[in-house]
Amino acid sequence: MKKEKGGIRKKKKGRLSFALVYPNLYHVGMSSLGFQLVYSILNRRDEVVAERFFLPEEGEKLRSVESNLPLDKFHVIAFSISFENDYINVLKILNLGGIPLFSKERQNVPPLVIAGGITTFLNPEPLSPFIDFFILGEAEKCLDNVVDLLIDSLGKFSKKEDLLLFLAKNEESIYVPSFYDVEYNADGTIRSFYPNKKDLPERIKVAKDVPLRSVASSVIISHDTEFSDRILIELSRGCKRSCRFCAAGYVYRPPRFHNSSDLLNSIEESLKKTDNLGLLSASVCDVPNIKEILGFICEKGAKFSISSIRADFVDLEFLSYLKKSGQKKVTLGIEAGSERLRSLINKHLKEDQIINTAILVAKAELSIKLYFMIGLPKEEWQDIEEILRLIKLIKHNMIKESAPKGKVSGIRINISCFVPKPFTPFQWTAMDEVDSLKKKQKWLSKEIRKLGGIRVSFDVPKWAYIQALLSLGDRRVGNLLFLAFSFDGNWKKALKNSDINPDFFVYRNRSYDEILPWDFINHGIKKDYLKKEADLAFSYKQTEICPLIKGCKKCGVCYLFEY
Ligand code: SF4
Repeated sequence: MKKEKGGIRKKKKGRLSFALVYPNLYHVGMSSLGFQLVYSILNRRDEVVAERFFLPEEGEKLRSVESNLPLDKFHVIAFSISFENDYINVLKILNLGGIPLFSKERQNVPPLVIAGGITTFLNPEPLSPFIDFFILGEAEKCLDNVVDLLIDSLGKFSKKEDLLLFLAKNEESIYVPSFYDVEYNADGTIRSFYPNKKDLPERIKVAKDVPLRSVASSVIISHDTEFSDRILIELSRGCKRSCRFCAAGYVYRPPRFHNSSDLLNSIEESLKKTDNLGLLSASVCDVPNIKEILGFICEKGAKFSISSIRADFVDLEFLSYLKKSGQKKVTLGIEAGSERLRSLINKHLKEDQIINTAILVAKAELSIKLYFMIGLPKEEWQDIEEILRLIKLIKHNMIKESAPKGKVSGIRINISCFVPKPFTPFQWTAMDEVDSLKKKQKWLSKEIRKLGGIRVSFDVPKWAYIQALLSLGDRRVGNLLFLAFSFDGNWKKALKNSDINPDFFVYRNRSYDEILPWDFINHGIKKDYLKKEADLAFSYKQTEICPLIKGCKKCGVCYLFEY
């Protein structure tokens, strides 16, 4: 039995039933606010029941958390997917549930197998052979309509294809992969991508809750998650900063903020259930009146945790709230060691700002965690040396500040591998090679260890490669995914036994006029805008952050969503 409060139990009889699946362990899935949000949207409707499923632990059976039911007892099997490397678990879970893996093998409905979540509205194609339809975009905007349509139509159509056609014609954010054909050029690039049914759009408009209708927060408080015993609250959605490597910064445009009183009301409501909050935002520093909000939580004697923050935002007042809330460390996204690469990614962050923040953190007697990336486009060996130089400088300044007090602040470093993502200015760019990433990691690990007193962790380059393959691949990559599943998760064997060349998707620079596998998804972001941003990046020029002013047509999103 899981240690949690807030789970919803309803009788299935007479209701449309959803098996809501997070394709990873309970601990990971219950840390996802998006997953919890879908659970509450579905269950607040009386005609619907949603029960949760997770990847079972060793020796466990695949059963719903709420009623211990098997997967095939539900009308709809709905996957909520946040990470590409979980795709293989989608296949594992279907298999454990006795559900045929390929959509074309499942002609009898129910169950329908559907999917949503950020990776599906970046690029769902590698999963397309297995999924009946995707819901592209934000659940608040379209899920109620999908439920209405399912209630109307399940059991009314004798053929699954007719049911799917009815759904696709009545909800603009539904994407049925089998209704779209792809043709390829001799060199393997896409020649055309088009609907094979009448009256379906060439591009699918993503659902966005613009403006946000309410403050999203978790309904279940669980002990066994990354945010143990906390209620998660979304402070804002999207980000104004336009970091060029960050897909969330593009596909969650326009950035949306709540007014402070709505946020405070939601926080107050949550504090009636717990005194521990997890505050989520892609850009905490841009949340209006953030310090007042943190002060309010501290005044109530409650605790909060907060995601990583910008180094140019931190001041002693902000740090004092973190300390009062029981936080021991401050997490900063530095991303690149050199000014040159920080300009390339549009980070708008100078070295003196980083050092000043490190000094403030030491003054506040907190420890620091720094995020860096290796493998960025145009990276040279000198940029790797710059990471080390910057770490040394930070350490030196923090020791100078904290040593006289007899307590040296701790430093932790996380160095991840850059993976190019759809809908960013780097979507045309090749990933750095695995051997090159390993060499950089080896050198950094050795040199940072020599500094002493710094804990450093790295991504595993081979998993970054798989992530890139699943992020940038087209629907042919679905065959590779199936092979990897068949070889029990052994990707090396799968890649060796496939006639698809994975390097074609991972290590290839694409030309601007190439049709990309995800071009059919309409986020409103103009391709010309991304091209311009890519050109600026490669001449190390930064652009202003998203202005969020009425009538702005810069990237195209506010025009499409009439914001
Ligand atoms: S159109 Fe302008 S304001 Fe709207 S998201 Fe794009 S850059 Fe920001």
